[in-house]
Amino acid sequence: MPITVVGSIAYDSVSTPFGERQRMLGGAAVHFALAASFFQEVRVVGPVGDDFGETELDVLRNRGVDISDVERIPGGKTFFWRGKYGWDLNSRETLDTQLGVFEGFQPKLSESSRSSDVLFLANIQPDLQREVRAQMPHARFVALDSMNLWIEAARESLMKAIAECDCLILNDSELRQLTDKASLYAAAREVLSWASSPPDSSSGAGSSEADGDRETPARRGPRVIVAKQGEYGAALVTADGFFSLPAFPLESVVDPTGAGDTFAGGFVGYIAAHADEEITDELLRQAMAHGTALASFNVEEFGTHRIESLAGAEIVARVRQLREFTQFSAAPVPLGE
Ligand code: AMP
Repeated sequence: MPITVVGSIAYDSVSTPFGERQRMLGGAAVHFALAASFFQEVRVVGPVGDDFGETELDVLRNRGVDISDVERIPGGKTFFWRGKYGWDLNSRETLDTQLGVFEGFQPKLSESSRSSDVLFLANIQPDLQREVRAQMPHARFVALDSMNLWIEAARESLMKAIAECDCLILNDSELRQLTDKASLYAAAREVLSWASSPPDSSSGAGSSEADGDRETPARRGPRVIVAKQGEYGAALVTADGFFSLPAFPLESVVDPTGAGDTFAGGFVGYIAAHADEEITDELLRQAMAHGTALASFNVEEFGTHRIESLAGAEIVARVRQLREFTQFSAAPVPLGE
């Protein structure tokens, strides 16, 4: 089933211990769309400026991504992000973020984008995520990603956006920051508890009744939580269980930018490919494996380059290897008291 995604469409300037690149194609929605396009048709919603090249759009077109809702804003500047990594590729410094055309952008989804069953609210201002969510009240599965900037600068709006989705995908540190819990598992369980009783505005969450200005989709709140842990993999928490996968072991990691979004593309893409089935924990585990495999390719080269040249068979092979790496049998031995 088709997937609609809103999120940053960007130029990224990135420095890692292995090199530097200026103004590469990037953005959360772009990394997500390229990965998810291996599974289903993807429709990208978002603005770009005059400076955004046809070559960059071709990268999306070449993977069959529908870009009819990518709006070129005359006189506008494309979202720009500059970041730097040290030897610990798990942490990075943001040196510059320029929202450009995203400032004041009002999305108007085409009929086609609205009709997708699956929606991914990739990282961008939560108000914008909510505007897109409101235009797709009947989406069957809605997942959301965000980051520390929005937890700090737009917490109230972010909490409302979270309350309107089925699945929250966040970095582990951001999940802790969001919930004020030191234990990742406790943090995830806390968010799950919001599904039945959304927190009130005094805890920063807000409620739909306060929002007279938009058609608010049916309240649900996330029932699936994914904590991304960078080079340590990702953990899944639902009401029924817990699952965790390490990152795929690689000899060489060049640029981790976009790994989280690429993971999300594999994860949500896999779910969308099974959207007529019940979303069981077993299905979610398979989705985790596909997200993990996709993310491992993304980090092998700068920007979107590796995913651009990726073949489906390579993903299948890596998922198989990942299963071998993570399987074990619990053969008990007699243990002393
Ligand atoms: P990831 O490495 O998966 O967390 O995502 C990296 C991508 O997020 C980059 O391509 C950036 O363009 C994009 N990005 C960085 N900061 C922001 C922000 N504040 N809002 C939206 N997207 C961002």
